[in-house]
Amino acid sequence: MNIPHIVIIGAGFGGLNVALQLRDAPVQITLIDKQNYHLFQPLLYQVAIAGLLPSQIAYPLRTIFRGQKNISFQLGEVTEINLEERYVSMNGSVIAYDYVVIAVGAETNFFGMDSIQRGGFQVKDIQKAVSTRNHLLRMFEQASREADAEKRRAMLTFVVVGGGPTGVETAGALAELIHHVMVKDFPNLKLNEARVILLEANDHLITPYPHELRHATFDLLRREQVEILLNTKLADFNGQTVTLGDGRQIATYTLIWTAGIKGAPMLDSLGVEQAGAGRVRVAPTLQLPQHPEVFVLGDAAYLLNGDGQPLPMLSTVAI
Ligand SMILES: Cc1cc2nc3c(=O)[nH]c(=O)nc-3n(C[C@H](O)[C@H](O)[C@H](O)COP(=O)(O)OP(=O)(O)OC[C@H]3O[C@@H](n4cnc5c(N)ncnc54)[C@H](O)[C@@H]3O)c2cc1C
Repeated sequence: MNIPHIVIIGAGFGGLNVALQLRDAPVQITLIDKQNYHLFQPLLYQVAIAGLLPSQIAYPLRTIFRGQKNISFQLGEVTEINLEERYVSMNGSVIAYDYVVIAVGAETNFFGMDSIQRGGFQVKDIQKAVSTRNHLLRMFEQASREADAEKRRAMLTFVVVGGGPTGVETAGALAELIHHVMVKDFPNLKLNEARVILLEANDHLITPYPHELRHATFDLLRREQVEILLNTKLADFNGQTVTLGDGRQIATYTLIWTAGIKGAPMLDSLGVEQAGAGRVRVAPTLQLPQHPEVFVLGDAAYLLNGDGQPLPMLSTVAI
């Protein structure tokens, strides 16, 4: 039977939903992802603060598609898409397509700050969220047996960079962890010495949200004793000291970077027009203008809304 072959790259919010919506369509689908699970990224910060286990936010793709007849899943990382000859390269072989859906998401953007990339912690995927969690728990353990007050305070100082939704959630959850959980688990530790500091380069938090929500978020974080430094840029982190743009320094072993993302690296190899943050410019139908058989969506795609603003990198947008 001559039915179209659709290759979907990425089983995040965008790719997963395309595959599910095509459940009954007369097509053959190959779904490719470098992980064999769908990850609910909005809850990664909970993994980072030991509130959830990784298995609670990652679901096996083969289980999701168990009953779907027109799909096969392949684990692997797509390294190249040949738009002219219509094939994708993966695991040393190639897969031809009639249509391809590129839903590869985004990765952390350090804006060229190597010291932050080396020394900072992240919450962008399971591995990074777990190393952040392990580091945080280690800091409390070490602080509990540290006699030097200055070192102990540094161990209990946590700097979160980026006042977007992820930074706000991470800082708030970390403050809750300290004041509601760790106070019980470490009764002899002076947790009134602990500090959660949120740095934001703008003059307000959560830019894409309405004014009232920004204010409510600010007040809520302050009530949770998060120190919010607005109009404050990060300049450097050497593993022991955070240096701010104005030269001020904060002694800490923990910097969590949530201040930027950019399109997944595979997008750079396409050789098509990219906009801010490396996202691929698409038509309102999500097709590439020169290649209507190619669709790009979710965090990987750049499309303006009715007000001339780029659609935000959010799961709801991807879906
Ligand atoms: C910590 C955090 C908190 C967030 N909180 C919220 C929130 O509260 N609300 C909200 O709406 N959004 C939130 N987001 C954003 C949301 O998760 C993303 O906008 C959404 O995941 C984008 O969906 P996507 O399908 O474009 O990409 P993703 O969901 O990132 O999926 C991309 C998939 O592509 C795969 N992939 C990438 N490159 C390749 C390759 N070369 N070969 C094969 N597979 C590849 C990846 O493994 C991944 O499975 C948050 C994100 C993070 C990181």
